[in-house]
Amino acid sequence: MADKTDKKMNHVIWDERFVKREERNRLNNHKSGLIWFTGLSASGKSTICHRVERELFNRGVRAYVLDGDNVRHGMNSNLGFSREDRKENLRRIAELSKLFVDAGMIVLSAFISPHKTDRAYIKKHLQGDNFIEVYVKCSVSECEKRDPKGQYRKARAGIIKNYTGISAPYEEPENPDITLDTENDGIEKSARQVLEFLDMNNFISLDDTKR
Ligand code: ADP
Repeated sequence: MADKTDKKMNHVIWDERFVKREERNRLNNHKSGLIWFTGLSASGKSTICHRVERELFNRGVRAYVLDGDNVRHGMNSNLGFSREDRKENLRRIAELSKLFVDAGMIVLSAFISPHKTDRAYIKKHLQGDNFIEVYVKCSVSECEKRDPKGQYRKARAGIIKNYTGISAPYEEPENPDITLDTENDGIEKSARQVLEFLDMNNFISLDDTKR
């Protein structure tokens, strides 16, 4: 794997002639950024991301969901769920997200991302004002009741190892930008909460007259 020394030797430099993110944001008429949803499996990350994506798309905002289905089955199909592989999974997602954000998109990412240090790394990597942490809060018992893919059942039976919430830890965010209480609130309410945050923080405008 390439390290910093290799990079220097290859003379890889960031080309300043590139069209800048700010220029793309002006063209699109909205800010780009990474909206990072973290929470237990079945807490509702993917469902809410896709709901928000649809709403943004309908409003002409360039948004895209990154989740296990399109990342773990493709780019990261060679990675498992050990501590090292989870870290590498997120490192690659951070790099990919950074390119999407640079390209002017609002990225909605739905990954359990159970470790604080990994989430802190992504935030630091994105830099500036374009990272929003969303905690999708739901108890293990409620997620287990939902169990849409039957994975909790398999984890309890020991068929799936290292399963977050059952046999692997989940570290709650200490200071998320948004907390969605999906145990008590419905999908629409949670999606609305995200959209209103984006509006309040000048990523988008929910007021059509301002667009
Ligand atoms: P995750 O991406 O966190 O693993 P998913 O979105 O794939 O979770 O699955 C969550 C499941 O829970 C879906 O089947 C969804 O319809 C259901 N669900 C029930 N209530 C809610 C809620 N209030 N918010 C989000 N999802 C909910």
